[in-house]
Amino acid sequence: MVEGVKTGDFVLPGDFLAMAEEFIPGEGTYEEGGGIYSSRIGIVLLDARTKKASVHPKTRIPPVLKRGSVIIGRVEKIGEQWVEVEIGALRGSENRQPPIPDLGSIHVSDVRREYVKDIKDQFRPGDIVRAKVVNPKRRPIQLSTEGENLGVILATCSNCRTPLERDGMRLVCPNCGHIETRKIADDYRQGRL
Ligand SMILES: [Zn+2]
Repeated sequence: MVEGVKTGDFVLPGDFLAMAEEFIPGEGTYEEGGGIYSSRIGIVLLDARTKKASVHPKTRIPPVLKRGSVIIGRVEKIGEQWVEVEIGALRGSENRQPPIPDLGSIHVSDVRREYVKDIKDQFRPGDIVRAKVVNPKRRPIQLSTEGENLGVILATCSNCRTPLERDGMRLVCPNCGHIETRKIADDYRQGRL
């Protein structure tokens, strides 16, 4: 038994919606092997009265990244000069699904106001960061963590993956005692996006 989606869910093409014995395939769906699947990106409507399953295009405008927009992302890779960030959400619209995960990058000169010698002392893969869009037209999108409210908001220990706790300017692992450094936001780990 495959678990279906419910009315209001956001689906992608190919997502399973319902069993064909329970619903009739409607707009934006197709039937295959006894199941009804979505043929588009949109919002599900499972109508209990008409027994019709359909998918409606999202009418809300997807968030647009502008210069100065604040995003939440996850550090994916660290190079010599850049870190690569997968953009997950735009602040102020956390509940909206970004259209596609967008890639951003932070150059070593945009990490903090002060000179940064080694970018590896500032970020690690898996860090959750809050960053500002500097240039939305560049690919990857150019980001900055300059400023007190920007930087890492959640980091885990590179030894044991336990979330690190803040101790002044350093981060300490409560499990193994490992000490690490990051460019942290002033509200590190306070549960705010
Ligand atoms: Zn640890």
